[in-house]
Amino acid sequence: MGIAAEGIVVVGAGQGGFQLGASLREGGYHGPVTLIGDEPGLPYGRPPLSKAYLTGRTDAAGLLLRPPAYYAEHAITVRSGERVTAIDRAAQRVTLASGEALPFAHLVLATGTRNRPLPVPGADLPGVHQLRSLAEADALKAALDGVARVAVVGAGFIGLEFAAVCAGKGIAVTVIEGLDRALARALSATMAGAMTEAQAAAGVRFLFGAQVEAIAGRERATGVVVRGGETVPADLVLVGIGVLPNQDLAEAAGLAVGNGIAADAMLATTDPAISAIGDCAAHPSPHADGARVRIESVQNAVDGARCVAARLTGRPAAYTAVPWFWSDQGSLKLQIAGLSTPADDAVTRGTPGSGFSVFRYRNGRLSAVESLNRPADHMIARRLLQAGLSPTPAEAADPGFDLKAFALSAA
Ligand SMILES: Cc1cc2nc3c(=O)[nH]c(=O)nc-3n(C[C@H](O)[C@H](O)[C@H](O)COP(=O)(O)OP(=O)(O)OC[C@H]3O[C@@H](n4cnc5c(N)ncnc54)[C@H](O)[C@@H]3O)c2cc1C
Repeated sequence: MGIAAEGIVVVGAGQGGFQLGASLREGGYHGPVTLIGDEPGLPYGRPPLSKAYLTGRTDAAGLLLRPPAYYAEHAITVRSGERVTAIDRAAQRVTLASGEALPFAHLVLATGTRNRPLPVPGADLPGVHQLRSLAEADALKAALDGVARVAVVGAGFIGLEFAAVCAGKGIAVTVIEGLDRALARALSATMAGAMTEAQAAAGVRFLFGAQVEAIAGRERATGVVVRGGETVPADLVLVGIGVLPNQDLAEAAGLAVGNGIAADAMLATTDPAISAIGDCAAHPSPHADGARVRIESVQNAVDGARCVAARLTGRPAAYTAVPWFWSDQGSLKLQIAGLSTPADDAVTRGTPGSGFSVFRYRNGRLSAVESLNRPADHMIARRLLQAGLSPTPAEAADPGFDLKAFALSAA
């Protein structure tokens, strides 16, 4: 195949970076593969950080995507704790913080995201945490010991998962959200409402439409000051207000960026020798009517890596995999297939309160399915969306309509 001896260099040794290396080997690529990651240790999965890792149901070894021996067996070089500081596109090499330069025949950017900072006074006080990396999870886990009251800023997935962990530990937790409901961009009002109701029944307090003005405290955080005067007392504050794509390297190298590193339908950037995958990449998606999307999920990092590896091993194809996602919040297991926009219609199948799904429609066609404790619906939804099949809204709402048979009929 056409990749020269310099081999393939990947910036970012997370979910996508790891998968790229693994899929290159599965695809028969024999040249050098180097993953450069600025975190310590081997590639690990982040999802348990806000779930099983905090509850102690898994440990750091359990987070690893592969055991240490895997990398030697597959001749994948992992350079942990090393940061790429520049890309020289003309010379096809990257520079590390140490000053070392590394040549590449093809470069893959899998740099992920970083936490969006909370721009209010007191946000840097001890006792204020964020949750993205293993190091942050370790700090949070240690700090949670003996804590009685927690405030969570932001009712997104990470904030809600953390709130469920706190409630499960018997900690009094208040979630503070500026908008009038949880997960306003990601979920239908029906599904978000069912999830917050269930969390409230488990003891989580919600403050919606509440603007955070400051973190209270002198030596350390003692609460969250909300516009209008209320201070929510807290021994620990978790800020979960979203992330920003790590696109500075790409931008400095003259690659096109917007909300994410601009990639085409095969995940190539504006330089054909450089691809971008995972959280940091924005690509046109057939599941968003061809619009460019930047998706933060394990599926997107894994399938994007597979797409690029296939291209680099001589089997080019557009990235068309159906996006899917999950979030575990205590006993709530949410699964989403497809991509919705807030304006998409919502049709309910099943009964909120027990397992149910919300089918989303855009211009009369199925765009996404949100399932709560209903994994069979989720699997069928992935099939439907991949095949471009759309039950009518009336069929989706009818419990007697056999969705599985409908999905299989087109196989
Ligand atoms: C707490 C938490 C819970 C989550 N739960 C879920 C879930 O339940 N379901 C789900 O689908 N998704 C979940 N996600 C999202 C999922 O983990 C991400 O979408 C996925 O990790 C993205 O993979 P990636 O390879 O794009 O980025 P990452 O896995 O974030 O890896 C990027 C790596 O690149 C490194 N890096 C960046 N710049 C440089 C540089 N210049 N030099 C060297 N290294 C660099 C970063 O430090 C990082 O290690 C969760 C995320 C978090 C934080």
